[in-house]
Amino acid sequence: MSSSTIVVNDQIDGYLLNHVRSESETAEALRKATAPMPASVMQVSPLQGAFMSWLVRFMNVKNALEVGTFTGYSALCVAEALPADGKLVACDVSEEWTSMAREYWERGGVAQKIDLQLRPAVETLDALLQEGRERSFDFAFIDADKPNYDRYYERCLRLLRVGGVVAVDNVLWTGRVADDSYNDESTLAIRALNTKIQHDERVNNVMLPIGDGLTLATKR
Ligand code: CA
Repeated sequence: MSSSTIVVNDQIDGYLLNHVRSESETAEALRKATAPMPASVMQVSPLQGAFMSWLVRFMNVKNALEVGTFTGYSALCVAEALPADGKLVACDVSEEWTSMAREYWERGGVAQKIDLQLRPAVETLDALLQEGRERSFDFAFIDADKPNYDRYYERCLRLLRVGGVVAVDNVLWTGRVADDSYNDESTLAIRALNTKIQHDERVNNVMLPIGDGLTLATKR
């Protein structure tokens, strides 16, 4: 059916990756080092990394936020695309995972662009709001614990400037959002946020089948 989205099998995925701007050597090394880890499904795909890096360049992003850093692949892709004086505030709670992230950020020469905040992201975002950073960020990427997605979304929206973009990852949740038989906490949280953003007058939004589903919402 011509009106539906193509089903991306491994062959097509490989073709896509061969025809987008290739990842840096450091990004490739980090992705390969993360792959054997049990939690590696949490890493964004190389295509998504390429897309975010394109978006950051396209928007001339200077101030970026990330909620959920894991081993640092998405932050690396964003930081590489930032100008020399650009800054990414990266939020995570895992010392273990982010120590790996730091190592590769150093290797990639972008460590000075990344301000890693190791504490619950809500605390970091609230602190930024208290510091008067409301409406000062160009881009925010949300990819952390799903039950808190709405809290992250609300705070990121306040921190974004008008025209800024919030990107929300895993909005298709491997298809579970569209399957009524799944009603666990994470699925319910994502489903609720998807419906909320769809009707949210504060943003213009689109939901794309990149990776596990990516929502892009522009602050009006
Ligand atoms: Ca994700």
